[in-house]
Amino acid sequence: MKKPFVTLEQLQPITDQYPTPFHLYDEKGIRENARALYKAFSWNPGYKEFFAVKATPNPQILKILKEEGCGVDCSSLTELMMSDRCGFRGGEIMFSSNDTPAEEFALAAQLGATINLDDISHIDFLKGTLGYIPKKISCRYNPGGVFTLGESKEGFQVMDNPGDAKYGMTRSQMTEAFKRLKELGAEEFGIHAFLASNTISNEYYPALAAILFKVAVELKEETGCHITFINLSGGVGVPYRPEQPANDIAVIGEGVRKAYEEILVPAGMGDVSLCTELGRFMLAPYGHLVTRVLHEKLTYKDYIGVDACAANLMRPAIYGAYHHITVMGKEDQPCDHKYDVTGSLCENCDKFAVDRMLPKIDIGDLLVIHDTGAHGHAMGYQYNGRLRSAEVLLCEDGSTRLIRRAETPEDYFATAIWD
Ligand SMILES: *Cc1c(COP(=O)(O)O)cnc(C)c1O
Repeated sequence: MKKPFVTLEQLQPITDQYPTPFHLYDEKGIRENARALYKAFSWNPGYKEFFAVKATPNPQILKILKEEGCGVDCSSLTELMMSDRCGFRGGEIMFSSNDTPAEEFALAAQLGATINLDDISHIDFLKGTLGYIPKKISCRYNPGGVFTLGESKEGFQVMDNPGDAKYGMTRSQMTEAFKRLKELGAEEFGIHAFLASNTISNEYYPALAAILFKVAVELKEETGCHITFINLSGGVGVPYRPEQPANDIAVIGEGVRKAYEEILVPAGMGDVSLCTELGRFMLAPYGHLVTRVLHEKLTYKDYIGVDACAANLMRPAIYGAYHHITVMGKEDQPCDHKYDVTGSLCENCDKFAVDRMLPKIDIGDLLVIHDTGAHGHAMGYQYNGRLRSAEVLLCEDGSTRLIRRAETPEDYFATAIWD
């Protein structure tokens, strides 16, 4: 059973202080999870997690992760600017972007970020932009085809389609890119790949690592480049559904270590540092969207209307994604009512749940929508003039802190030209 990280008793005073809807983050959970990740990869001395800023671009969240030893992975100008303002420096910033504008490469280089090139044509674009090629540089690899791990014993399959993805370079382009970068003065090389998203499997990272490690050994032989880091990127998932098993990061770290010892160490590459760019795994379970029931509508179905909408959490509307819902204070009651839980947008996809079995809901009940800590508030938008909510941090000592205020109508109107 999925349990919220707050009880109704804890939540009531919080909702007195901050009007619903809002995203609530669990500092204790975030820190403990980050420590477990670092422990799982402690066998690799250079290991570093670069948190994917796009998942939760909040300065206070970034600062917590920084205290836990994390860097940041940025993919846009504003993410670079935010990371700079949060005090991330040089080696703490990875810039893994695609279709990148020149000014973003320029800022990344100015901040000393490690630039991860998405395409071979970006080598000359970067050289043209900066006038030089940074000494430390990375290239993004796309092996093409279909990536599959087969069915796990729990029956959850990992499959994705790199051959259909816009990211990364082909295998032969990787060789060419490394040679060209070396000619242009690069000295330290890295390899990056992102093959599958939200994987529920302890096998994903080890399988990806084995692919990248083999490519690294080949590239070293073919080009003589000094490969100093390998970036496993994001993609380690979280169990959104209650019946899904959680990934075990210790098992994942051990699986990667085995591949490292089997492939890199014998090739004399036992000094390669690993990095990750996890977003979802770092934050998703440690965020709740807290919303209150405004209406119950009985037509052809039983609709529960809440004060949050897809503007606050888009994943159900755009991907049909499942997010678990807890009716606060009714955790022990039977789930014997079938509801659609809806927001207020004039869009029929604005439903947090469809045909969901839940305890009997009353107007005024508080609902917690689970696993909204990553790609939740961040994906918000303002369609229908609905505004993005506040973000609140539940601190380790049980107190709360506003870490982003809710948007106001004035924010919404600020970019309009009235006369
Ligand atoms: C989105 C993204 C990530 C993070 O992905 P998660 O699924 O949240 O772990 C990491 N790296 C890059 C380049 C990304 O685009």
